[in-house]
Amino acid sequence: MDPQATSVLLIEDNPGDADLVRLRLVEGRPAVRVNCVRRLSDGLAALSNEMPSLVLLDLNLPDSHGAETFRRVLEKAPNVPVVVLSGQDDEALAIKAVHQGVQDYLIKGDITSKHLERALRYAVERQGLLRSLEITRKQQLEFKNQFLSHVSHELRTPLTCIHQYVTLLLDGLAGPIAPVQSDHLKTVLKSVSQLHAMIRDLLEATRAESGKLRVEPRCVSIGDLIAQAVTMMRPTAAEKRVGLELAVDQRIPLVYADPDRALEVLINLIDNGIKFTPPEGSVTVKACVVETDPSAVYISVSDTGRGINPGALPLIFERLYQDSEAVDGNRSGLGLGLYIARELVALQGGRMWAASELGSGSTFSFTLPFFSLAKLLYPVVSCEGQLRESLVLVRVELTPLPISLRGNWKEICHQSLELLRRCVYVDKDLVLPQMGNNGTAETLFVVASTDMAGVNIMMERIREQMNTLPLLQAGEGTLRVTADSLPARAASDARTLEQQVWGVSDCVTEMILHGLGCKSNSKQEESREYAH
Ligand code: ADP
Repeated sequence: MDPQATSVLLIEDNPGDADLVRLRLVEGRPAVRVNCVRRLSDGLAALSNEMPSLVLLDLNLPDSHGAETFRRVLEKAPNVPVVVLSGQDDEALAIKAVHQGVQDYLIKGDITSKHLERALRYAVERQGLLRSLEITRKQQLEFKNQFLSHVSHELRTPLTCIHQYVTLLLDGLAGPIAPVQSDHLKTVLKSVSQLHAMIRDLLEATRAESGKLRVEPRCVSIGDLIAQAVTMMRPTAAEKRVGLELAVDQRIPLVYADPDRALEVLINLIDNGIKFTPPEGSVTVKACVVETDPSAVYISVSDTGRGINPGALPLIFERLYQDSEAVDGNRSGLGLGLYIARELVALQGGRMWAASELGSGSTFSFTLPFFSLAKLLYPVVSCEGQLRESLVLVRVELTPLPISLRGNWKEICHQSLELLRRCVYVDKDLVLPQMGNNGTAETLFVVASTDMAGVNIMMERIREQMNTLPLLQAGEGTLRVTADSLPARAASDARTLEQQVWGVSDCVTEMILHGLGCKSNSKQEESREYAH
């Protein structure tokens, strides 16, 4: 510990103890700088100004007691060593503090200057060591993730090549093949698909671990998604003679989820259900609203299969976990499916869990949040407890000419959303998620905290950015940008802020429905149009 650089923050409310500790500190290390405060709030404020070399902390302060005291200090200054000053009577608590990240504890009555100096030096060194271990661990994790990601990508290329040539042979494009050869080639193709799925899982798990898994939530019908997943899995279920049932209340409101990712989760769970259920059994997918939780839809996939061992149940969402009894010739996964599924659900604001009875079957459940425009709008349309003074809804309509490639459409919409996000201020404006399209065009919306005069600049920016889309540069589509003012703060409005946000949200919904051609809207004539 460099004496010149040693500064200690002493958080101690007892003036006698504080003086004694300060004296011992200065005796042991004359160059030490001690800042003494009596309350936790003052200590936290001091940590906001300057990080000391070390914090000496009494646990029972006028504004904080016990474990809460060190929890808050560790949260505020995770990289600063903290040493607890403990009374004889709270030694057990001090030991608990050490378990949770505090470097050491000193019994107040036993402090000598030599003892204190040595304890502080060790604390600083230990903290430094821990920090470098953590850096090394992160570097190793990053290297492992990069390695896995690289290898997985490289493995894909030859696999795709095998897939293409086997398909070519199967289709008879290289000459006629005998039925037995066709059967063999189908087996090869099945194994290639399994390998593809494993590599995809490996890539996804690597992304999840390094925080790079992405979801793009939008407004979707969970009923439609479940129907799609069930349709896709019907052939697999039929092949194994497992029944596939569906019980979905069609009145369930729209959810806020990434449709591709939610579909992936559903397919994974249904696939597992079919895999672990013997012929003549069944898999049932349900979706319902639960009275105790009005904010989310509850989706479950139940099967009448072999069930899961109670000891294994807490482990099945762990990476690479596979029940040893389940790993037979038919297993094709890496034990990553449920881990990825749970991560994807969590990224979409839901949670996932499982229940099972050995021999009777299992139920995997997850939630997805309902779409609430008001909840999305709230932080953007309000400021300092009030509705903003002016609000505008900008509508960006992108229409491809019939000749343009429809296959690229999803990618174009994704790019458009990215471009729009570059045109707004994150704290004042909101690019709404895709709300669906009207069949021929994609319409995207931005809620902007500005007035009709100010929105011109934004619209200009939007046009400039959107015109960089290859579709528009190639003259294969048209762009139309329009704006409508939204109800904003009125001096006479006696409603609560929540009610006012609901009002804005209703109005935005009405305009979106109109924009998508779902409903007539009398405000149409008032809108100012800026056709491209
Ligand atoms: P994989 O990707 O290999 O299929 P998962 O993560 O999907 O792995 O599943 C992990 C383990 O959880 C499986 O090996 C199996 O033991 C258990 N499991 C998953 N779904 C079910 C189910 N519906 N019934 C019984 N066991 C299951």
